[in-house]
Amino acid sequence: MEEQLRTLAKMQKLDDQIGALRVLQQDLPQELNDIIDRVDEATANMLNSETIRAEIGKEQRTVEGDIKQHQETIKKYAGQLSEIKTNKEYKALNSEIAYLNEKISELEGQELELMDKEAEARKKVEEDKKVLEAAENVKREREGELRKKIESLDLEIERLRTDRTELAKTLPQNLVRQYAHMIKNKGNCAVVFSRNGACGGCGFVIRPQIRIELEQRKKINFCESCGRILMEKFSDL
Ligand SMILES: [Zn+2]
Repeated sequence: MEEQLRTLAKMQKLDDQIGALRVLQQDLPQELNDIIDRVDEATANMLNSETIRAEIGKEQRTVEGDIKQHQETIKKYAGQLSEIKTNKEYKALNSEIAYLNEKISELEGQELELMDKEAEARKKVEEDKKVLEAAENVKREREGELRKKIESLDLEIERLRTDRTELAKTLPQNLVRQYAHMIKNKGNCAVVFSRNGACGGCGFVIRPQIRIELEQRKKINFCESCGRILMEKFSDL
């Protein structure tokens, strides 16, 4: 009888492992997706920041071009001033030059603002790059390992199941049926151990007579409350 109890405890241990692998089977693909999503998101963020920076750069070049053009026009006008005959024309050209100078200082103001914006945008790109690199590092480190693990889970579960079936073959069929029924209906837990005088599955206090029986290991006991197979823990399992 002790051997049957031992076999049941071993079977439960295998079912505990199978249960843990089933949880992984659900969690690992999600973890993998999250890792890939984070890289995609970081990539999109960085591309967006780079686009913003490029637009600012374009604005800067436009403003710089305008300033240069105005400066050249002023230069041309200044050259023409010496050739001018009438006072009226002289005044008109001078006020045109004054207007262009005003325009230039306005554009120079814009240029300074754009420089600030560009520096900020550049900083943002650098930050996004770091986030992306970190996400890619995580992906590089974890992806292969996770994929391998996901692929191997089915095999691992199958192997544990085979081991469990082999153990079950040594037990009476009706006991195996009871065991399987509880695995299915009692939270993957058919075998429980006494813990501090109570059932390790539901906490029900074990009667003294039953405690003696558990120690003797001469019969299969069931918890009087939850119905699970109840036994003393084997020290070597
Ligand atoms: Zn119980």
